Amino acid sequence: MKILLATSEAVPFANTGGLGDVCGALPVEIARAGHEVSLILPAYRTARYCGLPIEPMGIEFIAPVGTKTVTGRLLRSHLDNGKVPVYLVQQDEYFDRDHLYSINGKDYIDNCERFIFFSRAVMESIRLLDLSIDVLHANDWQTGLAPAYLKILYRNLPRYEKIACLFTVHNMAYQGQFWHWDMLLTGLDWKYFNWHQMEFFGKLNLLKTGLVFADAISTVSPRYAQEIQHPPNGCGLEGVLQHRANVLYGILNGIDVEQWNPATDPYIAAHYTAETIEQGKPLCKAALQRELGFPERSDIPLVGFIGRLTEQKGVDLLVEVMKQWAEETEVQWVVLGVGDLKFQRTLEELAQRYPARVAVRLEFSAPLAHRIEAGADMFVMPSRFEPCGLNQMYSLRYGTTPVVRATGGLADTVVNASPETLAAGTANGFSFEEYSAQALDETLRRACEAWRQPDLWRQLQTTGMRQDWSWARSAREYIRVYEEITARKRAEG
Ligand code: ADP
Repeated sequence: MKILLATSEAVPFANTGGLGDVCGALPVEIARAGHEVSLILPAYRTARYCGLPIEPMGIEFIAPVGTKTVTGRLLRSHLDNGKVPVYLVQQDEYFDRDHLYSINGKDYIDNCERFIFFSRAVMESIRLLDLSIDVLHANDWQTGLAPAYLKILYRNLPRYEKIACLFTVHNMAYQGQFWHWDMLLTGLDWKYFNWHQMEFFGKLNLLKTGLVFADAISTVSPRYAQEIQHPPNGCGLEGVLQHRANVLYGILNGIDVEQWNPATDPYIAAHYTAETIEQGKPLCKAALQRELGFPERSDIPLVGFIGRLTEQKGVDLLVEVMKQWAEETEVQWVVLGVGDLKFQRTLEELAQRYPARVAVRLEFSAPLAHRIEAGADMFVMPSRFEPCGLNQMYSLRYGTTPVVRATGGLADTVVNASPETLAAGTANGFSFEEYSAQALDETLRRACEAWRQPDLWRQLQTTGMRQDWSWARSAREYIRVYEEITARKRAEG
């Protein structure tokens, strides 16, 4: 099969979060599974300095954006030693900027125009590069117009008529909404600006456009695929998703199992596997306690949190519970993250008040993230919503038992310890349903009780460590969806 993955981010060219991780890792695994996959993204400034060679291809094109005609060029790079061709759309006025989408917390004013142009460029590249693809795989609102262009403007052209289109949503909270006059820039007829297609409460909505015009939709976990068909996680588009439920798939993201491997991790104090965790992990915990200025105690649990300090991640619940526990309970806490100022301030105050129990690092640090995953006993993620989540999978791989709210990808990966799941050998962590500090408090208490029972704890750790969270597993599921949608397209004639 031949696939073109269109995205506004892919590691290492450009990355602001989950989308970039997926689009950097997935094509590599699809290619390893024997398919021809290429990637297309904007030639941002960050992409040009990412360290991989990028060459001009001598291909120039023009794309209409409203009444303007905008010139672009195609550049070429690759991933995985040349196995995945990468095409970069150069248009310096749009993409040669300091950041991807915003500056000083403000979205670039021409974001709609930039990604209309990029979606046009994606469609043109198929012709210019003579890519006889079976599947166009678009991602998030930035490429939401590509499925519409395919259906409306390109459907009768020879290279395009057989192409099936998958549209993946990485987070329903980001929809690419713009004022209605931007409809003029898309080049599509006003008749599509209606509440069944591109309009959402008077605005142009590019995520909705992708959801409506693609042949199939996927999102980044099976549970999230269910949740987004209802409020609040559908973010107003639940009706559209219910309407398309028969072609909506949930595929869990993977993790980089080479980068996140406690047997080889260069950042951690000692290496270990499921077989040697009893020797290795205590050394990592002691080293982390030293690094954080905590007393080196193996007899009290150490709980970690890494992530954006926002309400999405349940930081309001976490802070409430930490305030109480820091006063009353002998448990150590480490928080690594940046985010809302109000959370940063409260956490800093807690760390100052309880230096032997609370450590807070308000920074982005991959090495420390690895050391927390290896050194903590538990990892807490009380998210309000979580399309997939990566840290709980890193934690499972490092034998760091996750304590999570059962939402989205967290519900799909963490099996709550109960008499039944323990007997079945499937339990790998702790979870709760209700979004409340009380539910988090109770669940952490359960986890701490279990931590004091070494055999039970070992069972939870090794169950998680032996599970497969690799991108190879996710890629197999994407390939199955590609096969289904191309077969359907062929059947339609
Ligand atoms: P989201 O994409 O919603 O922010 P995910 O859990 O899917 O959340 O992915 C976030 C990624 O960023 C994870 O790999 C997490 O470890 C990492 N991360 C977030 N904040 C930090 C930080 N302060 N330092 C190091 N890594 C971080």
